[in-house]
Amino acid sequence: MYADVIVDISRNELDRTFQYRVPEALADAAVPGASVVVPFGKGRTLSGFIVGLSETPKIDEEKIRDILSVPKEKARVEGELIALAAWMAEHYGSTMNQALKTVLPIKKKEAPKQKKTLVLSMPLEQARAEYTDFVSKKRHSVPKERLFSAILENNAIPWDFAVQKLCVPTAAIRDLEKKCIIRVETARDYRNPVLSDGRAMNRASAIILNEEQEKAYTTFANDYEAGLRKTYLLYGVTGSGKTEVYIRMIEKVLSQGKQAIVLIPEIALTYQTLMRFYSRFGDKVSVIHSRLSAGERSDQFERAAEGEISIMIGPRSALFTPFPDTGIIIIDEEQDGAYKSEQVPRYHARETAEKRAVLAGASLVLGSATPSLEAMKKAREGTYSLLTMAHRVSERPLAEAMVVDMRQELKKGNKSVLSGPLAAALTDRLARNEQSMLFLNRRGMMGFISCRSCGHVLKCPHCDVSLSLHRDGRLHCHYCGYVQENVKACPECGSKYIGSFKAGTEKVEEFLHEKYPSARILRMDADTTKGKEGHEAILSAFANREADILLGTQMIVKGHDFSGVTLMGILAADMSLNASDFRSGERTFDLLTQAAGRAGRGTAPGQVIIQTYQPENYAISAAAAQDYEAFYKEEAAFRSLMKYPPFSHMLQVQLLGADKKRLAAGAEDLYRRMKAADSDLLIMQPVDARIARLSDVYRMAIYVKDDDYERLVAIKDVITKILQTDRSFGVYGMTVFFDFDPMGSF
Ligand code: ADP
Ligand code: ZN
Ligand code: ZN
Repeated sequence: MYADVIVDISRNELDRTFQYRVPEALADAAVPGASVVVPFGKGRTLSGFIVGLSETPKIDEEKIRDILSVPKEKARVEGELIALAAWMAEHYGSTMNQALKTVLPIKKKEAPKQKKTLVLSMPLEQARAEYTDFVSKKRHSVPKERLFSAILENNAIPWDFAVQKLCVPTAAIRDLEKKCIIRVETARDYRNPVLSDGRAMNRASAIILNEEQEKAYTTFANDYEAGLRKTYLLYGVTGSGKTEVYIRMIEKVLSQGKQAIVLIPEIALTYQTLMRFYSRFGDKVSVIHSRLSAGERSDQFERAAEGEISIMIGPRSALFTPFPDTGIIIIDEEQDGAYKSEQVPRYHARETAEKRAVLAGASLVLGSATPSLEAMKKAREGTYSLLTMAHRVSERPLAEAMVVDMRQELKKGNKSVLSGPLAAALTDRLARNEQSMLFLNRRGMMGFISCRSCGHVLKCPHCDVSLSLHRDGRLHCHYCGYVQENVKACPECGSKYIGSFKAGTEKVEEFLHEKYPSARILRMDADTTKGKEGHEAILSAFANREADILLGTQMIVKGHDFSGVTLMGILAADMSLNASDFRSGERTFDLLTQAAGRAGRGTAPGQVIIQTYQPENYAISAAAAQDYEAFYKEEAAFRSLMKYPPFSHMLQVQLLGADKKRLAAGAEDLYRRMKAADSDLLIMQPVDARIARLSDVYRMAIYVKDDDYERLVAIKDVITKILQTDRSFGVYGMTVFFDFDPMGSF
């Protein structure tokens, strides 16, 4: 057996691994992630980590040396994370350096905030005498007197208070310190993001699980007791009480002295969700999210490594929390697109969590009301253990859903964004003092400008995308930031009939104000949530019933639990269907089901109205019927017919270049070389990307499909090798990225 070893991770050439032989006696200990001591160069020894094992020597067998020792338990977590990085680099196509930066993101540590206190350090009587002596001197310093008297009165005061409130210069403090009147005490003050707003915690009493929850939990707990570590798919309808089940599972794992990682999509990472964990586990919980500073993040990771916390909640990157002994990883809303990284390495948190769980000896729990095709397929095949919760807690019925065909509305002469039935339902809720939510798909927000006479659409001169009209009256490109004045006539045909037609959230809000002048309306979208507390302010105002209607994009759909809402209106259900990638049906079904799940969570029954131009589309009809099975069946048939993931694997080779012709030639050349390397593999002709130009960079793609993921990894390695070794490729000025089983369109 041979081991690939990475030595000295502080160095830059991280991509080199060195192969060593595993001596018989060390065979058990030499696992991926184990730290090892190896001979290096002439007479030196270095410590390193095993990142992979294989049975074939990569160089002349004679030249391979033995691993000297495998020190026990040294830096176990670090080894685990390094092994994970090695797997990611290989699996998603990146350098080891990029992978390590993703997994061990905090190299340059920010100095932790020190909380300093000034404490009286001599007996009080003696200090009083000193004080009298001090003030009796004619030209004594007044700030020093202030400090001295404050210390005498309070025995101790915070450094910050002395400097900022008492305006004492540092030199004065140091002087009293030198005279041994006071001493400066330092305590590490971790920035705890949960507690930062000072809200008190309130340890909630445990909820009694219902029968379905109990069954899901016990299945897990029995396995866990028996030492079985599996991946579970907790498939529970919205409102079935998945969070309670997670909490119980975490309690189980914690009781064995282990730690828990909980991943939540950023959008659903609200104060409400957090409090449910916090009120059960208190300050054992920490959280990271994108609004934390680098220092706050590094503090939280450090606290995890040092065992001060045992539950980490956060988005994708929380997966790399350096817990010494991770016992469970939970991924809530596992179908969410945000679990796929957009940066190299483009890892998927679900797959990567599966790998980390194996390395750490942890269980993995995936939760969803609308599982991804990937997860459900594995559950049906028996790779994952399926835990089903088919009913809402306390048998609250699912909201009743109605589909409105907007084409019929148009025929009836209704050109507004609200159909007759939705307008009537809103009027009715306002009269009854009940709350409503209106969801506008983000992709419907683009207020693009087109000519009614010739159909010309105004596009960004640097990107192949349409410009959109903003409130400032100018035209913006969302991709590169280009801005220009709006036009009065069509640049193509000169017609004056040119303008913006698609309504965004702002437009809809204006319309609602006109139609329902007395209604209190809140709008939640990227513009209204820019500040640090933007989300929370809007959500809590709505939860406190300070508004009648909450209008918003995707961000209003996930996770929130408003008991006063009895109507959910979906303004343009099919906007996300038109996105040109194979997951658009799944995304639409997921969004609509989630949206529908928001209504009727209190005691009053809920109603959902879905406005669409494509009522016959199965993603829409299945969502309206809240029928996951029907959706899965259709979608699985479509994907397997088209050889799309998860029924096959897909590698998107992304090609970027500044010169259109040279890029096309490079793409063609690469395509031929790939064909030559593996002639049976299904490799598609190079095509323009959906956005064929972005910030003046041209974009093309080569798609490769195969049932065997490893075969895609092999062709990726072929490409990497060509680019590294074949100088002739330089002439194309082409940059190459890989995206395995991509989530969005490129
Ligand atoms: P899901 O995540 O599956 O949509 P939640 O975990 O948000 O569902 O639960 C929905 C609501 O039901 C929450 O307010 C939760 O506190 C409550 N709940 C969950 N389990 C129980 C239970 N066993 N008894 C009473 N209420 C429960
Ligand atoms: Zn025109
Ligand atoms: Zn642009």
